[in-house]
Amino acid sequence: MRGEPVEGELAGLAGPDGRRASSGASPQTAERSPRHGVRVVVDRALCVAFAECVGVAATAFELDQQENVAVVLDPESVDVETLKAAARACPVSAIALFDADGAEIPL
Ligand code: SF4
Repeated sequence: MRGEPVEGELAGLAGPDGRRASSGASPQTAERSPRHGVRVVVDRALCVAFAECVGVAATAFELDQQENVAVVLDPESVDVETLKAAARACPVSAIALFDADGAEIPL
């Protein structure tokens, strides 16, 4: 089950530039795009590393080879529709998109 990400967890993931490194042990990864304002969250507990998201948006997602889960790479490198398509392609619904107000964006 996927829920609204906990802000404290997300804040702990972001670096000084607001972007997150592409690997880590946290159960979630997130990154807010300054261009289109969409926050992308991958639920690492759900991800089964099929890489459909990478296939749709290879510059936005990558597979962490050590942990074998998807991580958010550079979501602003693609438009919102491509992020939605990548999220829809996930067979386990591990990807969620949130707008600047924190509301989940329908896929
Ligand atoms: S498509 Fe879903 S399950 Fe596959 S790597 Fe991406 S997030 Fe993980």
